Amino acid sequence: MSDRYDVAGVEEKWQTYWESQGTYEVDEPGSRPKFYDLCMYPYPSGPIHMGHVRNYTLGDVICRYKTMQGYTVLSPMGWDSFGLPAENAAIRDGGHPGVITRERIEVMRSQIKRLGAVYDWRREVSSFDPGYYRWTQYLFLQLYGAGLAYRNNAMVNWCPSCQTTLANEQAETGECERCGTPVIRRALEQWFFGITKYAQELLDDLNALDWPERVKTMQRNWIGRSAGVEFDLQVVPLAGGGEPSDPIRVFTTRIDTVFGMTYAVIAPEHPLVTSLIAGVDNEAEITAFIQRVTNESEMDRLSSDGALDKRGIWTGRQVINPFTGAPVPLFLADYVLATYGTGAIMAVPGEDDRDFQFAQVHGLPVIETTERPEGWGKLPTLARGQGQF
Ligand SMILES: [Zn+2]
Repeated sequence: MSDRYDVAGVEEKWQTYWESQGTYEVDEPGSRPKFYDLCMYPYPSGPIHMGHVRNYTLGDVICRYKTMQGYTVLSPMGWDSFGLPAENAAIRDGGHPGVITRERIEVMRSQIKRLGAVYDWRREVSSFDPGYYRWTQYLFLQLYGAGLAYRNNAMVNWCPSCQTTLANEQAETGECERCGTPVIRRALEQWFFGITKYAQELLDDLNALDWPERVKTMQRNWIGRSAGVEFDLQVVPLAGGGEPSDPIRVFTTRIDTVFGMTYAVIAPEHPLVTSLIAGVDNEAEITAFIQRVTNESEMDRLSSDGALDKRGIWTGRQVINPFTGAPVPLFLADYVLATYGTGAIMAVPGEDDRDFQFAQVHGLPVIETTERPEGWGKLPTLARGQGQF
């Protein structure tokens, strides 16, 4: 036996044999248990790179392992062939994106085949093939018919020169990847899926997942809550008079703690903010804060663990707690999003951890609304409310 592995000879011989025998072709399984393995379909972006080799080898190892355990294994391969890379390549090199994409698929298919993985190539699909995307369209129409696909405003990355929205990856540097123009954030009508209608189910099932607590918290913040109460906060007029402001509607899942509200928070991109901050003492500082925050992605904002003094700013305004009649300061903070709930919240530092941290940093009062059982312990230190609001 040779002490060197003859890659070219051995691989080609067995791959030809597997293909001629249909070794990895899977039909309706008989008595064996089924195992389905889907590795994310590659984007046909050009010749494969080591990331593809790594990814599809890992999947192949699992498939072969499950086959040896007695499973009938179905491992399909296909192409995620719509979208930006084809569009960018067509703009850069000229030519029709469909033609470019087909050429790239040819190259990548021959390369991936040489990996010798257990794909059933008879089942190859391409997402840009009308025979495939008619089903995507069918599913969309089902969702639309059920009221689960709808139009709404959302903040997007926008290049004023290209007159187009940009993915976060195309706007990472703050400049348009195509033309270098500074990217702005603006509200634009977008399609949405009504996944928040399933927020409670998603939250409930999250509890059963064996994920790190930090990741679960991030998911909880991201999902939001469905069951709660909305009520209005009247805005205290500025000392110098001026136009009376519309009330601010807030959403809370903990209306039982409303007597502990010592401040409120409104999203920096909330439509009322511009009129609220007009003419307040620190208007320039607030405007700079809004500029910075609205250029960050929602995911970054929700998952940020940055210092809370940098993440919020007083609007210079006060609002009235309708349950006590007490005025409380109104803040802007990056972790409140205009697209969730009503885009504004009451804050109860006596009963919420993040509100408590925020209150400590900004010198806001803390009111406990529930009597702790004996031995429960006190809050570490109660802020005395040294801030000037
Ligand atoms: Zn541009």
